[in-house]
Amino acid sequence: MRSAISRQRKEYCKRVAYCVIQSNDLVAYEDLNVKGMVKNRHLAKSISDVAWSTFRQWLEYFGIKYGKLTIPVAPHNTSQNCSNCGKKVVKSLSTRTHICPHCKYTEDRDVNAAKNILKKALSTVGQTGSLKLGEFEPLLMLEQSCIEKREL
Ligand SMILES: [Zn+2]
Repeated sequence: MRSAISRQRKEYCKRVAYCVIQSNDLVAYEDLNVKGMVKNRHLAKSISDVAWSTFRQWLEYFGIKYGKLTIPVAPHNTSQNCSNCGKKVVKSLSTRTHICPHCKYTEDRDVNAAKNILKKALSTVGQTGSLKLGEFEPLLMLEQSCIEKREL
């Protein structure tokens, strides 16, 4: 029973990774130390070491296979910084909405972080073309649309 669930999870990671690669030319993600995070008992419940590393491996595999860019970025301050003005807005893990006191920008915590991750990735690819931030949707939203489409 346990191995069946584990197999389903791995299959799910593969399908989401495939879908994300098929619908994007560039995929950015945090270069997370998941093992370290799982040791933190406050975070352990919501993070699966195996699921993330499986997802990432498939993402990188499909990226190479289909000629898409997959870019890991340093996770430093991605959830704290304002993706609109760049100022640091300190928030705890339980704060789910980013509200910037400097520029008044308000956004879902994960979407704000995703925009920061994408900015970092685009700055590392540099002048590879006319890639602009507005042309990309955050990974999280793509993942959700994949799930809805495929009824996973
Ligand atoms: Zn701001």
